[in-house]
Amino acid sequence: MFDLIAFDLDGTLIELNIPFEEIRKRLGIRDRFILEAILKMEENERSKALKVLEYYETKCAENAKLIHFAKELIDALNQAGVTKGVITRNCRRSVEVVSKKFDLKFDFVITREDAKPKPSPEPVILALKMFNISRDRALIVGDFVFDLIAGKKAGIKTALIITDKNREIAESYLRYADYVFKSLKELAEFLGVI
Ligand SMILES: [Mg+2]
Repeated sequence: MFDLIAFDLDGTLIELNIPFEEIRKRLGIRDRFILEAILKMEENERSKALKVLEYYETKCAENAKLIHFAKELIDALNQAGVTKGVITRNCRRSVEVVSKKFDLKFDFVITREDAKPKPSPEPVILALKMFNISRDRALIVGDFVFDLIAGKKAGIKTALIITDKNREIAESYLRYADYVFKSLKELAEFLGVI
């Protein structure tokens, strides 16, 4: 069992369904990663673009769907006394919206407003520092390679969740994953909390 578990948000605990293509068009971005493209912009342009991104993220959070067994897993970890939280590239507001909507109780929420976004290990290191937890007692759970790289760079264990959306590409993530689970329920079983 781990003392601290950091979850990715979108695609791992909830489904935000952010219309990336629409945002790219609106902001005139061609890059694959919208956040990186925005962070490269000049100050004035950047703050405007971040507002647009925040608008979409928050709106999508209001309509978000819970991923199967996410609520049960977070509740079970609460019961087991495991420190758990979210590390996301999204804005803080979107996490607040979904936490309230689905009554998810997290011990920490680290967003792009708090630290350099994944794949940087910064948010993971911040979480360890907040609770004074050693690297070998922590796990990051995610559906995307950035989650796993952030965890690896920070020196913690990594778990990949295979979903309908990442199934085809997931094989290329495997070298960064210490564990692979087909569902959050399977993760909960592995953790021994259900
Ligand atoms: Mg994700």
